[in-house]
Amino acid sequence: MTTRSRRDQLRDNLNRTREDLADACADAGRTPDAVRLIVVTKTFPAADAAALVELGQTDLGENRDQEAAPKAAELAAAGLEPVWHFVGQLQRNKAKSVAAYAHWVHSVDRAPLANALSAAANAHGRNLNALIQVSLDGDTARGGTPVPELEALAAVIAAAPGLTLKGVMAVAPLGWEPAKAFALLTECSEAVQRVDPAAVEVSAGMSGDYRAAVRAGATMVRLGRNVLGEREPMA
Ligand SMILES: *Cc1c(COP(=O)(O)O)cnc(C)c1O
Repeated sequence: MTTRSRRDQLRDNLNRTREDLADACADAGRTPDAVRLIVVTKTFPAADAAALVELGQTDLGENRDQEAAPKAAELAAAGLEPVWHFVGQLQRNKAKSVAAYAHWVHSVDRAPLANALSAAANAHGRNLNALIQVSLDGDTARGGTPVPELEALAAVIAAAPGLTLKGVMAVAPLGWEPAKAFALLTECSEAVQRVDPAAVEVSAGMSGDYRAAVRAGATMVRLGRNVLGEREPMA
């Protein structure tokens, strides 16, 4: 059970985060509804995710299937059906599980994964919104497709049944100015839109750098700590 005080804390954090995001939009000359807030609930219990949905937060993000699948099931059993965004590195053998609950996958970064997600979405009779994760510095160990391979992957996803190509996603590389990272991501978005003009979504910005992302044109920000608090260090 979520204690009353945890719920109050989440409500306050969520309201403050929404105000800060609206403020970042105003600073950037954009309307607040131009940016979708995704609250990343990874490492936090299903009770927190449920409380957020009850507080009116419709978009939630997770980065590991082992954690996300049971959390999504627990919420569904309670009659809560947020829009789930899968934002983490994804192995092909997890595609079937992810395709059962996710509405968006932000981390499609190679053709075999796109094909596995396509097959899985079809098997479940569902459609997945796909974003291409871009490796802005070319270090693909942290996930993402290298910039020169973007358009080829976009073409694969655009042609894949069960997937809708929606745009691009990135994490600012360590040590990069966020503004530089997100400016490059804007160029990547333009490249993908040359393949599919409807693929206009840009998922960029985490708790530490979302203002720069909003200034650069992000349409989705992925915020965890700002709403839920600091995470326990990962083992
Ligand atoms: C954890 C995570 C986030 C949220 O990060 P915070 O710093 O908690 O806001 C965003 N995107 C991805 C891909 C993540 O793994």
